[in-house]
Amino acid sequence: TVAILWFRRDLRLHDHPALLAAIEAADEVLPLFVIDPHLMSRGTPRSERLLASLAALGKDTRDTLVIRRGDPVEVVARVAKQAGARTVHVSRETTPYGRERDEAVEKALADDHRELVRTGSPYAIGPGTIVNGSDSPYKVFTPFSRAWRRHGAPEPAERPTRIPWHHGIRSDDLPEAKDVGDIEAGEAAARTRWKAFLENDLEGYKDGRERPDLDATSKLSAPLKYGEIHPRTLLADLASVTGVPTQDVETYETEIIWREFYADVLWHQPESAWHDLRPELGGLAYDSGTATDELVEAWKAGRTGYPIVDAGMRQLLELGWMHNRLRMITASFLTKDLHVWWPVGARHFLDHLLDGDLSSNNHGWQWVAGTGTDASPYFRVFNPVTQGKKFDPDGEYVRRWVPELAHLPGKAAHEPWDHEDGYEHDYPTRIVEHDEERKEALSRYERARR
Ligand code: FAD
Repeated sequence: TVAILWFRRDLRLHDHPALLAAIEAADEVLPLFVIDPHLMSRGTPRSERLLASLAALGKDTRDTLVIRRGDPVEVVARVAKQAGARTVHVSRETTPYGRERDEAVEKALADDHRELVRTGSPYAIGPGTIVNGSDSPYKVFTPFSRAWRRHGAPEPAERPTRIPWHHGIRSDDLPEAKDVGDIEAGEAAARTRWKAFLENDLEGYKDGRERPDLDATSKLSAPLKYGEIHPRTLLADLASVTGVPTQDVETYETEIIWREFYADVLWHQPESAWHDLRPELGGLAYDSGTATDELVEAWKAGRTGYPIVDAGMRQLLELGWMHNRLRMITASFLTKDLHVWWPVGARHFLDHLLDGDLSSNNHGWQWVAGTGTDASPYFRVFNPVTQGKKFDPDGEYVRRWVPELAHLPGKAAHEPWDHEDGYEHDYPTRIVEHDEERKEALSRYERARR
């Protein structure tokens, strides 16, 4: 007998409950991945990263991985019939599109007397699980995180010692991935990256994570996005770490809980992906039109004239990754200094991030825009100059990404306007005045609240 393991956001073999369920269900396991044109447009960093991860998974499954292209509703049912599989095993999907797709696949399989079996999810505690005393979802982070910690993450699942892969079903060719940056794809690379982080950077993470000039975070967002490593594994390792200050361990755990929280919010409110969570700000006035489009283009290209903003936007284009502090600073600049509605920026991020994830990205944007769950108070508008000087104290990060400012030493790189030779290498002048735009943002906010 054969069971299908349909891989999606779970491209690994360790700590994989759906894989264990498939092994349990039949004599052999047929690994399948469906390239869904709806989710994958060739050339975006995210799609290329996925191809690289699939290439690694192909090797890990001893070249038995079957790749098919097309609408999963037709493809999965067809492959199940071809292989004579009674069950198709998946990790439960929790995004709006994934849920709808899985229901349609489940129905197509059932029409042919086959079953879709959901085991586990991409999260340590699946979305929808943590509810408050009156069985309702939590609306803000801190009480959610307390309840999440009380619940506790389950133990990781063992990697099976022997996996009876099914051979003999033809696969489509896997296109070769183009350059996908410096965060190597695949399960082995993710595990190596994690071990190195535990050894070298967990200690000091609480403060280090705020500094874009240091390489002090784990860069596991893309591996987590594709499920090359599971958060359960990370949490179990953190629980057994010794000799590292508790505050560093707890801070990393808290970041993982943010990921879980945003997935939970999306689960309960699928419309929150592209609509303001806070209805009271529905009337906030945003700018659009040709003049605004030009400002947005300058923001996208990293040519706003604000060094820290430009450094972040250029890092995004170059690496497909941006430091968390910079995601906040650049998002604040678009929404509060340029008065542009956050989905414009969220779309740009998703188009360029290797870790682009609907729940973390779009809710992260809403947090900054002030329309989200734990909105940062709207009046706390990020000042790009003070943020730069505080979190990139020696100007290292700016000089790395903005060569036109490489000649300005130390903090001077954050304020080229204060230096005679500041614009010697054609760095653009500021496209807006922050102090004015800050006042404008606050007055729009006051008008919307009235
Ligand atoms: P680390 O500091 O090593 O954190 C470890 C892990 O915790 C991350 O890999 C991530 O899975 C999780 N995490 C950390 N911070 C957050 C957070 N604020 N929200 C949710 N999860 C978090 N993260 C994404 O994975 N995909 C996105 O598309 C995304 N878009 C964002 C957009 C904006 C506007 C903002 C403010 C944040 C966004 N984040 C996103 C969250 C965060 O910036 C990244 O997860 C982090 O920078 C990834 O780098 P790292 O793995 O080195 O992080």
